[in-house]
Amino acid sequence: GAERTKNVLILMSDTGGGHRASAEAIREAFKLEYGDEYNIIVKDVWKEYTGWPLNDMEGQYKFMVKHVQLWKVAFHSTSPRWIHSCYLAAIAAYYAKEVEAGLMEYRPDIIISVHPLMQHIPLWVLKWQGLQKKVIFATVITDLNSCHPTWFHPGVNRCYCPSKEVAKRAALDGLEDSQIRVFGLPIRPSFALAVLSKDELREELELDPDLPAVLLMGGGEGMGPVKKTALALGESLFDKELGKPLGQLIIICGRNKVLKSTLESHEWTIPVKVRGFETQMEKWMGACDCIITKAGPGTIAEALIRGLPIILNDYIPGQEKGNVPYVVDNGAGVFTRSPKETARIVKEWFSTKTDERKRMSENALKLAQPEAVFDIVKDIHELAQARGPLANIPYILTSSFASII
Ligand code: UDP
Repeated sequence: GAERTKNVLILMSDTGGGHRASAEAIREAFKLEYGDEYNIIVKDVWKEYTGWPLNDMEGQYKFMVKHVQLWKVAFHSTSPRWIHSCYLAAIAAYYAKEVEAGLMEYRPDIIISVHPLMQHIPLWVLKWQGLQKKVIFATVITDLNSCHPTWFHPGVNRCYCPSKEVAKRAALDGLEDSQIRVFGLPIRPSFALAVLSKDELREELELDPDLPAVLLMGGGEGMGPVKKTALALGESLFDKELGKPLGQLIIICGRNKVLKSTLESHEWTIPVKVRGFETQMEKWMGACDCIITKAGPGTIAEALIRGLPIILNDYIPGQEKGNVPYVVDNGAGVFTRSPKETARIVKEWFSTKTDERKRMSENALKLAQPEAVFDIVKDIHELAQARGPLANIPYILTSSFASII
């Protein structure tokens, strides 16, 4: 008989663009591979179902990354397991009822967490509900290298690691080999499926057809030294002797409206396009020859798929720091915080050092894992199949833990 549709609840939080991007990538891949077999719900559960501080993770995150020192302290002081366990246990007890109600409303057969803080509480709730053996729980890690230990929870069915480095950390933190899979960071299927010709993209996006192009961005929020770098590139990419530009510049500001309007009002000597939040990043990346970005895992993984040499000009302390050696040691890019240095490198890549740019582009393609998102959903599908036809899960409102305490 026809199996009923299975519910997949993806837990994310809008801290930066990366977690949402990964969640949506997984949703799209499920749709493409299995159509109506799965009903995908992407939820920022904390925001909707709990009180402060969990419902304001986004606001707190934005505040903290703006005050970098504060974020550093928060990241590292919560690293030892005993600290975050106690902290999360306290929060979990306090918000247990709300979280439980949230999980019950969606009646998930499968829960996928794409956030470092969304393992402990849902797993506790499942345990109290006696649902551990019935509901599949998977973590999809979205940091390429150095990641916060809250990502690793021995109670998961699967922990999908984007790189061997992360898999090693998972093993050291007590996960079994049978729980760990290394497929790569899940990137929107449009990146993997796209067959793109640079010439056509440039025409569609109204770019110069011949000048080499550099893409400058700073994650979903348009963070990092974007403005200074843009100004430096405006100088370095203009050949004063010949009186003409060596290259063109595309700046994607994401949700940073102030940055966008500042850059739009500037007078440029080279061709420049300033854009806000773009939904078709695969096209913009496909039209360019290299990229400058902070070390966001999403942007890095996407750039690798498009074979773009990467200049990393910033990173969020803690979770993004390890993304830098991942790119640099694998020969796919360089790191510098200096806008002048960045501008000089791009100029060289567009003139005297085109061979270096090509070599890095090849290395980037070697690291790329465009199929990762499909590998992940196929593996989850197999897990679900192995459980046999899932009976309607009897969720019971126990209000267990919260009322016991
Ligand atoms: N992004 C996008 N449109 C924009 C800017 C960014 O779709 O205008 C996407 C980008 O392609 C990537 C994600 O947002 O998938 C940014 O994730 P990343 O991990 O690089 O940084 P975060 O914003 O999470 O700090």
